Parts: sequence; structure tokens; C-alpha cells
Amino acid sequence: MAEELFATKPQDPKGPWNIAIIGSGPAALTAAVYTTRGAASTLIIGGEKWGGQLMLTTIVDNYPGFPEGIQGPDLMTAMRKQAERFGAEFLQKNATRVDFSKTPFEISTSDGQYLAISVIIATGALTKWLDAPGVQEFIGKGISSCAPCDAPFFKNKKVAVVGGGDSAMEEANVLTKYASEVILIHRRDEFRASVAMQKKVMTNPKAKILWNTEVKEVKGTNKVEKLILVNNKDQVVSELAVDGLFIAIGHKPDSDIFKGPVEMDEKGYIKVQDHTKTNIPGVFVAGDVHDDVYKQAVTAAGFGCMAGMEALKYLEETKEGQP
Ligand code: NAP
Repeated sequence: MAEELFATKPQDPKGPWNIAIIGSGPAALTAAVYTTRGAASTLIIGGEKWGGQLMLTTIVDNYPGFPEGIQGPDLMTAMRKQAERFGAEFLQKNATRVDFSKTPFEISTSDGQYLAISVIIATGALTKWLDAPGVQEFIGKGISSCAPCDAPFFKNKKVAVVGGGDSAMEEANVLTKYASEVILIHRRDEFRASVAMQKKVMTNPKAKILWNTEVKEVKGTNKVEKLILVNNKDQVVSELAVDGLFIAIGHKPDSDIFKGPVEMDEKGYIKVQDHTKTNIPGVFVAGDVHDDVYKQAVTAAGFGCMAGMEALKYLEETKEGQP
């Protein structure tokens, strides 16, 4: 499909590229579709585990255009192919450091330094783990945040899920296909998940719900064996024997490498000005790394489109960045 390559790549693969996009979820890949179609050479620094949160999910029913739904990884693979079709270069390495104090901007990876005239930060968000003794120790030893990845290990076993949002409902639903029993532990007496997602869990005979309950500790020898729970209404402490614990209590922005030069709020969300701009001219932001409100694949894609268009405008205004 060579005739469809819109963007010419720099002779040196290390750049300077017109635009570097850090991240590879819906925001990043949508931005790349726009920047390449705008004839800007575009490097996607997509991370070793590319694709973002949709790679960890099953059916996506609320992304427009797929009346029967689409598997998350299939959607991301299609988005990546689309960006590459127009000439985006995909680097499957993590960005480890950025230097935005000089132009072209410099982005360090395990594959060396890359230069770009403009940067779009679209690193998304990472799993939030429970802050309770035993949690860090048992990650990968019975504790997971990805039922679509790990549910088959819990065939005919008893597992717990913590959380009350859509992610927790989805984890619980996937687990009921394998586990003998799924106990959903939530700290309040109502879920924040959408009604449709709640209904799927509440009508599933394998799922049980513990309301007003918090996990105080995870115990085991080499793997998760039991949870110490407390009911936050009557303070009664109890034990629950389980083989696994899935944590679905939300996400935090993946913004650590930008701390310092890029302004962010106290939770680490990048502060956005004028829809897509960071405090650094030429550095734009899109998606869950700055969005604490909507956090949807489709909104991330929309933000990616906006950031891509603004980065193209910036290149036009910057003599050095003429595509
Ligand atoms: P979320 O909506 O922020 O929900 C997090 C849940 O975890 C809340 O119920 C919260 O309890 C609980 N929680 C937070 N911190 C906790 C702690 N320290 N201890 C115990 N519980 C804690 O996060 P999410 O479920 O990951 O969803 C994020 C976004 O993605 C949402 O906009 C959601 O709609 C979207 N999403 C959509 C789909 C889909 O449509 N297919 C699937 C997954 C996610 P409280 O309720 O008490 O605050």
C-alpha cells in the first residue's frame, strides 16, 4: 500500500522527526493517523507493552462503528495498522526520560535517544493497586488486574474482585466463566458502574457481593490464600479464603517521566491549556494522562485527533518543522 504512505520518514531513524507521539492507546494512534495524513513524519514510541488498557479487556460495546462490539486487542491492532498505513513508524520501546529544555525535544528509550520538533504525550493511565499489606508481595502470585489475561488460571477456583466501577464488573463477569465463585468486594453500598454492567454481574449466579467491605490484608505462603476483611459499617473483621484477588479500583495517569518540566496536578494528571497544550510550546497532550473525567476509548481518540491537528498547526508555524 506504498501509495498510501503520506509521511516521509527522516533519513536518520533517530530523527529529528516532525512529531513524536509517546503512548499507543486510542489517543496516541488517532493522533498518528492525523499527523501522518498531514504529511508530518511521525514516530510512535509505543512502549514494550503497546496498546494501552484496551489490550487488557474483552468485548468493547461502546466504541461507535461496531454494532456487535469488538474485542479490545482487535480494536487496537486495527488502529495501529491504520496509523502505520499512512507512514507512522512504531517503536515498541518504553520512553524512559524526556528533555524538553531544548529543541528538537529529546526522548530517551532503551534503544537510545530520539529527537522530535513536536511531541504528543498520550501515555494513558496505569492500574492502581490497593494500599494494603500483602498486595505488592502477591502481584502475579494470585493478585492480578487483568481477568481477560489471567482468568483461565482460576478454573473452578474461588476468587475475589475489589472495586465498584465498570472495570470491576467486567473483571467479575469474565471470571465467572472460569471460577467456581466470584466475590465482589466493594467499599460502599452501591456501585458506580453503569447499570448495564452492574446488571450482568448481579444476575450471574456465580457472583456474590460483599457491600461496605474493605480488604485490610492479603495473606498466603507462596500465593494468595486468604483476605482479611473489615466491614466499614460495624467494624467486624473476617477472613475470606480465596485463590485469587483481582483489583479493579481505577487507574492513575502514567506521567512520572514528565514530572518537573510538564505541569500536572497533585494526582499526576497533566494540566491542559487551550484543549491540547501543555505548559511547553510544541508539547501537546491527549487522552487519559490528562483526562480525569471521561476516560473512555472514544474520548481518548477524540483528544488524540485534536492534539494531532494542533501539532500540525505548530509545525506550520515553526519554520524548522515544515513537513
Ligand atoms: P472507576 O470508575 O474510577 O471505579 C473505581 C472503583 O474502585 C470505584 O467503585 C471506587 O469506589 C473503587 N475504589 C477506588 N479506590 C479504592 C480503594 N482504595 N479501595 C477500595 N475501592 C476503591 O474506575 P474503573 O472501573 O476502572 O473505570 C474507569 C473508567 O473506565 C470509567 O469511566 C468506566 O466507565 C470506564 N470503563 C468502561 C468499560 C466499558 O464500558 N466496557 C469497562 C471498564 C472501564 P467508590 O465507588 O466508592 O469511589
